[in-house]
Amino acid sequence: MTRPRPTFPVRLTPASPAPVPARPAAAKPPMPARPAVVSATPAMASEAVRARMVQKLAAQGIADARVLRAMGAVERHRFVDSALVNQAYEDTSLPIGLGQTISKPNVVARMIELLLGAPALAGQPQGRLGRVMEIGTGCGYQAAVLSHVAGEVYSIERLRGLHERARANLRPFRLATVHLLLGDGRLGYAKGAPYAAIIAAAGGEDVPAEWIEQLAVGGRIVAPTVSPNGGQALVIIDKNVRGIQRRMLEAVHFVPLKSGIA
Ligand code: SAH
Repeated sequence: MTRPRPTFPVRLTPASPAPVPARPAAAKPPMPARPAVVSATPAMASEAVRARMVQKLAAQGIADARVLRAMGAVERHRFVDSALVNQAYEDTSLPIGLGQTISKPNVVARMIELLLGAPALAGQPQGRLGRVMEIGTGCGYQAAVLSHVAGEVYSIERLRGLHERARANLRPFRLATVHLLLGDGRLGYAKGAPYAAIIAAAGGEDVPAEWIEQLAVGGRIVAPTVSPNGGQALVIIDKNVRGIQRRMLEAVHFVPLKSGIA
């Protein structure tokens, strides 16, 4: 099913100038014209708003240039419902249908920045990840961002409706390196393994053993899980030749990691 693509809101262009009453010839010259934003195409307008979002992300502490570039490149407004397009670049999560949400830009950027801190990329500030697995495709936004920092992206979604929506959303971007899979992401996707990084957009009781098995040596998992106080927090799992290292980070709020497909 293809939905009409939301166009960028007209609201972003300033209102047309108020009519200026005719002045006598002696009147002082008119003020210099405002920059020609009015004639900007929607694509240009969305680029400006996205650049502001990126500035805000940097001010919030996202420092990795690769992440900021990727966040600046992906048109987030193309992934949300047309009624929500005006909020596409605000730092907020938004509904994407079937009770699910697209994560806030800040959370997407933070998690991808953490992924790029994988042991195998240590000391390579311009390095790219190899194959990445994402659990919870949702609308496909994060998969598109990941494609800017990784060689291949395998993204799994358990809800057929969202899997298809992501497919439609991503089609115009022609991202040959993004592979969308319908399935239970708790099992991972062994055929694409080993992964340089694994990122989950839904939180479970714990990180499934399959993900750890499918992670490459030198790779990193970033996922929301139950925290010791019963809430939800990000966990980082690094795999090296000596084994697994696990760290809990800040509290987060993700939709639950569920089993089976629907
Ligand atoms: N990364 C997404 C965020 C989607 S929200 C985006 O950019 O839009 C999390 C998604 O995880 C939901 O779509 C939910 O259906 C999915 N999910 C939950 N449990 C899952 C599982 N076991 N396997 C695959 N997807 C799952």
